[in-house]
Amino acid sequence: MLGLMQHGALTVDKFLDHAATWHGAREIVSRDANGVVTRDNYAALHAAAKRVSSGLARAGIRPGDRVATMGWNSARHLAVWYGAANMGAVLHTLNPRLFLEQIAYIANHAGDRILFADPSCAELVGQLLPQAPTIERVIFLCDATDLPKTDYAATAFESWIAGEPAEFTWGGFDENTACGLCYTSGTTGNPKGVLYAHRSNFIHALMTLQADALALSARDNVLMVVPMYHANAWGMVYSAPAVGAKLVLPGQRMDGESLVNLIEEEEITFSSAVPTIWQGVLHYLKSSGRGLGGLKRVVIGGSAVPEMLIRTFGDDYGVEVIQGWGMTETSPLATISSPSAEVAAMDKDARVHYATKQGRLLAGLELKLTDDAGNRLPHDGKTPGRLMIKGPTIVASYFGGEGGEVLDAEGFFDTGDVSTIDDKGYMQITDRAKDVVKSGGEWISSIEIENIATGHPAVALAAVIGVAHPKWDERPILLCQLKPGANACRDDLNAYLDGKIAKWWMPDDVLFVPEIPLGATGKIDKKLIRQRMEGYTLP
Ligand code: ADP
Repeated sequence: MLGLMQHGALTVDKFLDHAATWHGAREIVSRDANGVVTRDNYAALHAAAKRVSSGLARAGIRPGDRVATMGWNSARHLAVWYGAANMGAVLHTLNPRLFLEQIAYIANHAGDRILFADPSCAELVGQLLPQAPTIERVIFLCDATDLPKTDYAATAFESWIAGEPAEFTWGGFDENTACGLCYTSGTTGNPKGVLYAHRSNFIHALMTLQADALALSARDNVLMVVPMYHANAWGMVYSAPAVGAKLVLPGQRMDGESLVNLIEEEEITFSSAVPTIWQGVLHYLKSSGRGLGGLKRVVIGGSAVPEMLIRTFGDDYGVEVIQGWGMTETSPLATISSPSAEVAAMDKDARVHYATKQGRLLAGLELKLTDDAGNRLPHDGKTPGRLMIKGPTIVASYFGGEGGEVLDAEGFFDTGDVSTIDDKGYMQITDRAKDVVKSGGEWISSIEIENIATGHPAVALAAVIGVAHPKWDERPILLCQLKPGANACRDDLNAYLDGKIAKWWMPDDVLFVPEIPLGATGKIDKKLIRQRMEGYTLP
């Protein structure tokens, strides 16, 4: 027997309709690359997005066509986002921090027809166009006065939408219609496209709004640091309008001072970004003596959150750090480290211990750990296994069928992460399968050593990689980037690690490097580190 409730397709246009109707005056604040701040609101965003839909339809964009963006977080970027998706086209975010060859590969693979780009990307776009023949026109996310001078044809966004009607009928299509396309950064092989559906994005936004996850409310002022080109800005492009939170979009500048300025001036209560961004913020706070205003919560994810970050935010600035785990293929948020009742009742050290884990599963998803043969492994907090995930916000296959079948016989997706799950349901990533150091048939977690090393007062960033060893297969070495002006030697780091990790996990070497390279999403780029370390031999 079927229920007798209305259907109501779960399409994301409803979030923006809701925000404009019920929170129309709530602010959207954008800061551009020059530091100029523009104030908008949800009603204005709604009208701009309608104009974008009208303009796209007039330009011949049909449902299912790919509309690309290459830009930082801004209100204009959001208008294109909703304008394209709400008419049934596919909004494809290109990451401007990738290498040109990767962007060209991705744009061709996606078959992008129109490109909306930030003016700061003008040169990159010029290099891209000859290699991306499907792109028919370029529109810069600016007004006519800021239109960059280029030797290719381009229009300013404001001129382009000026004459377009603000009436356009959105939605009306199946909720499984494709909504957005985002490529994984391709740390192995070519980038692969994850094609989100309206339904999966809608469900993901609701899942992340629960009190144990992002817990956004109408009273929050949200600083959306995580880029829109990185897995839907962890769904905040949907969840913030859904609840009518004020949205602050920081543009290109993500250094500590620029972010702290916004946190104070815009009275930010909530923010989220990868750990390296927050390490930059903390470094700036310590050197400037400034504070974090009314900031209450930050969700940090994308890579493991060092314990030092959790403690310093909490102890020195009264800000609660919640760790999230997920990936492009999981929409992205899937687990969250907020305390269960049992953990909340523990002493502080124990609570911090659980906060360093990647956390508990959001409702609607399933997790399992398996060995390489696919057998389930116990949730004992000790046995590491391949982390497999299933649910309505998880990828079923990649765009264009790349990689073939990606689900196992039970419909689970292999995340490529290795993790444990404890008796309280807390998942902990021990490594990415390709980063784990395999020594004497046992696994050494590079992440765990990095997290501890980052706690050393002189260390800014730490990375552990495996190096070939004649007897043990691989042995770990530790690379450290020191804080400006700080000093430390190999013996200091060894003494610091001693007793905090098993003896056989101790790195065979500690190297000090001027720079630990970060990839296009702000994570430590181990592929590049391995390349740089080619030819290195253990002492
Ligand atoms: P990629 O970096 O390959 O483009 P994503 O940006 O989607 O992919 O990153 C997903 C990966 O990032 C996860 O598979 C996991 O390895 C890592 N990751 C995400 N969040 C965390 C976290 N809180 N702790 C540790 N690793 C994380």
